[in-house]
Amino acid sequence: MVDKKRLAARSALSASEGDHENETTSIDRLLVSVDPSICIGARNCVRVASGAFGFDDYQQIAKVTNPSSVAEERLRLAERSCPTGAIFVENA
Ligand code: SF4
Repeated sequence: MVDKKRLAARSALSASEGDHENETTSIDRLLVSVDPSICIGARNCVRVASGAFGFDDYQQIAKVTNPSSVAEERLRLAERSCPTGAIFVENA
């Protein structure tokens, strides 16, 4: 079943591409991204996958830093832990 919230977030991501440096990073077979338009700065991603995600203190949003520094399971956990669904971990 298609999650309408996710589709809306993807649309927002496409519309905002280029708004934030490092919002999307591909690693091997995965594409990891943060939608800055719906990130509320809860920092769950930074807590569960430190290294893969960083936090921009000025803009108060997360950004993808080095996803290959953590296991895929950590990336998936970060995706599930985001309260707004701002993180996308997809097969490339
Ligand atoms: S967990 Fe989600 S809302 Fe919180 S900082 Fe990370 S991307 Fe933003």
